[in-house]
Amino acid sequence: MVAKALRSSGHPILAHIVPMRRCNLSCTYCNEYDKVSQPVPSAVVLHRLERLAALGTSAVTVSGGEPLLHPDLDEIIRGIRTNGMMAELITNGYLLTPERVRRLNRAGLDHLQISIDNVTPDDVSKKSLKVLDKKLEWLAEHAEFHVNINSVLGSSVRNPEDALTVARRARELGFESTVGLIHDGEGQLQRLDERRRSIYAAIRDLPKPFYTASLYVRYYESLVRGAPNAWHCRAGSRYLYICEEGLVHYCSQQRGYPGIPLDQYTQADLDREYRSVKSCAPYCTIPCVQRVAMVDEFREKPKEALLRFFPPKQGGDDPHGLPVPIRMLTWLLMPPENSWRRPLARKFGKAALWSLRVK
Ligand code: SF4
Ligand code: SF4
Repeated sequence: MVAKALRSSGHPILAHIVPMRRCNLSCTYCNEYDKVSQPVPSAVVLHRLERLAALGTSAVTVSGGEPLLHPDLDEIIRGIRTNGMMAELITNGYLLTPERVRRLNRAGLDHLQISIDNVTPDDVSKKSLKVLDKKLEWLAEHAEFHVNINSVLGSSVRNPEDALTVARRARELGFESTVGLIHDGEGQLQRLDERRRSIYAAIRDLPKPFYTASLYVRYYESLVRGAPNAWHCRAGSRYLYICEEGLVHYCSQQRGYPGIPLDQYTQADLDREYRSVKSCAPYCTIPCVQRVAMVDEFREKPKEALLRFFPPKQGGDDPHGLPVPIRMLTWLLMPPENSWRRPLARKFGKAALWSLRVK
C-alpha cells in the first residue's frame, strides 16, 4: 500500500465507507450516528466498492454508526478484499462473540479497531473496559487480523486516567494501542489541561510501532500543547469519506465538502483536492487523514520528512530506536557528514528514490 502510494499521488490511499449510520450506543460527544436509519443494501455498498477500486483505492475502512449491525457485513468485507483492497473495521465491539470473530476471519478482515473511552460506563459513554474486556479476550484468542485498541483523551471524558488503564490492558493482551484526542463537531482540537497532558505523555511512552510513534511526533506533540500543525490535508484525494448516501466528503467532521456522488467522482476531483488547502488543518485531530498525509510529505520531501517524523535525540546526531528499514532510509537519505560512507550512501540514496518514484 505504501509503495503504491509513493509511486503515484493520483489515487486514494484510504477510504471510509458508512454502510450503517444507526448505532446501538449514544456516546454524548458523537455526531456520527442516528437511531433510526436502515442498513444500506449490500448491492449498493458493493457497487461503491467497485467504484473505489476503479479510482485505485488501496484500503477501505468500514465504520458507522455501528457496522456490526449491518446484516451483510461479511459480504461487504469480502467485497473489499475481492476488489484488491485492504479491509478495516471500526466497531464499538458490543456485538462481538467468538463466532462473530471467526466469521470476520473467514471474510478476510485485515484490521479491526475498537475505541474504549473509560473503565466503567458513565453518562458520556458506555464504551467501557468493564463491558468490553471479555470481548477483547475473545479477540486475543480467535482473531487472525490485526487489532488496535484506541483510548481517547479529552475534556468530556470524566476520568482521563482511564485512557492509560485501557492502553495498558491492550498491550497486556498483545494488541496495538493508540490514543486519540477528542475533537469538536468540526474535527478541531479541544484543549487538554495539565492532568490530561501528563496522561498523554504516559501513553506516548508505552511501546508501540514506529508508524504510531511518528504520528505522535508529527502531530500530537504540538496539539497537546494547544499549538497548530503545519501540514497539507489531502482529504478528498488521498482520503475519501463516503457517507451512507454515497456522497464523497473530506472526512467525518467536514461533511458536505465536496459532497459529490462517488459515481460522479473523477480523476479531476482527486487532482483538485490533492492541491486544495483546508482551513481546518492546523488544529485537526483526525489521525487517519494525518497518517495518509505523512506518505505524501515523505514522497515530496523525503529528507525533511524523515527528520520531522524521527527527530534526532536531543544532543545526538542519529534518530533513535528506529526499525531497520527506517534506519536504512535515514542512512541513504541523510548520510553523516565527514564519513567515508557518504559518497556510497548518496549513490544508493538516489537509486532508492528513483526506484520508489519519489520526486
Ligand atoms: S459507539 Fe461510536 S458511532 Fe456509536 S455513538 Fe459511540 S462513538 Fe458514535
Ligand atoms: S483538516 Fe482535513 S481531516 Fe482535518 S477536519 Fe479538515 S478536512 Fe477533515
